[in-house]
Amino acid sequence: MGFDLQPELEALEAQHLRRRLQVIDQVLPGGKVIVGGREFLNLSSNDYLGLALDPRLIAAAQAAAGRWGAGSTASRLITGTLALHQQVETEVADFKGTDRAIIFNTGYMANVGVISALMGKGDVILSDRLNHASIIDGMRLSEAGFYRYPHRDLNRLEDLLKKYCAVRRLLIVTDSVFSVDGDLAPLADLVRLKERYGAWLMIDEAHATGVLGATGAGLAEALGLSAGIEIHMGTFSKALGSFGAYVAGSAPLIDMLHNRARAFIYSTALPPPVLGAMQAALAIVRQEPEPRDYLLEQATLFRQRLQAAGLDTLESETQIIPVLVGDNRRSLEFAARLRQIGLMAVAIRPPTVAAGSARLRFSLSAAHQPADLARAAEQIIAAGREMGLNKRTCS
Ligand code: PMP
Repeated sequence: MGFDLQPELEALEAQHLRRRLQVIDQVLPGGKVIVGGREFLNLSSNDYLGLALDPRLIAAAQAAAGRWGAGSTASRLITGTLALHQQVETEVADFKGTDRAIIFNTGYMANVGVISALMGKGDVILSDRLNHASIIDGMRLSEAGFYRYPHRDLNRLEDLLKKYCAVRRLLIVTDSVFSVDGDLAPLADLVRLKERYGAWLMIDEAHATGVLGATGAGLAEALGLSAGIEIHMGTFSKALGSFGAYVAGSAPLIDMLHNRARAFIYSTALPPPVLGAMQAALAIVRQEPEPRDYLLEQATLFRQRLQAAGLDTLESETQIIPVLVGDNRRSLEFAARLRQIGLMAVAIRPPTVAAGSARLRFSLSAAHQPADLARAAEQIIAAGREMGLNKRTCS
């Protein structure tokens, strides 16, 4: 009678894979939080520029609510498209240098919506193995054939492109900054390959938007490759400090998404306060390069400190810095040790990462003070040493 869920939960527990919610009691400036009456340096937030607490975003959200209301009252194709939605979409297209843009309620919905709208039976999608779960779910929903090539393995990708180059639609999809490893997609090679084999390229700039590029438009901007990419996706929920996502590209692409992206069509439009915050964040990242320069400098310093002490930060080149542990239980133990000394860093375990590659994921923010980051790096190194994670003992 009924579903007995306990055995499954207990099996997760036994494998050190059971998740529990972490409640933040208070959010403080400087990338700090209060949990259970104690202050922590939060090294797990995606608020890379510290914009979530920026008074300009808060004021813009309040002003938009005052002018347009708390909700958008309908889905986009009914009566939920306010002039404010259209303004944000025009600003995104300008930011990304594309003809048009469309906003989705979340990055998850954007990936699921776009991939399932464009790709169908007989089509083929080639996806980097470390792409975000929302890309995988979009592929599953699409009914297209899909192949997950080994992470950044261009040879394997080219083999697949050769094999499937005769299909109706062939799509390569990749994160630009990988969300757990913090490394970069080989974008120039991907553009070259997709051109050679007549594929389209979709990039997810969730972790690059606001962080990379001269105006914060992402890795494609940083490398001067924007024009060679058909589908640009990114989020407002990370460096841009609020919520929501965009897809930018050609006019026919956006028109098609209006008509076919079910995650866009069948969900209530983003509410005005969120749109207000989005506009304020866009204006800030376009005009203020200093916070992202500071963030990337601090990230390099932090990474170099951990590496010099023999910790394995994989191929990270960004503000996302993993420290490989391997075993699930030990990754939890590492996180618990850091928590005892006031550092909040979450263990990332399978299925988010491959079995045997559990790790802590540190994400830095421009809100973090240099002294706090320097102290945190020392504490992480000391805790890693106690756990025997430091590979080199001579440094
Ligand atoms: N893509 C990537 C690469 C992500 O890391 C995330 C969020 N973790 C998403 C998409 C989903 O974005 P959102 O949180 O806005 O749904």
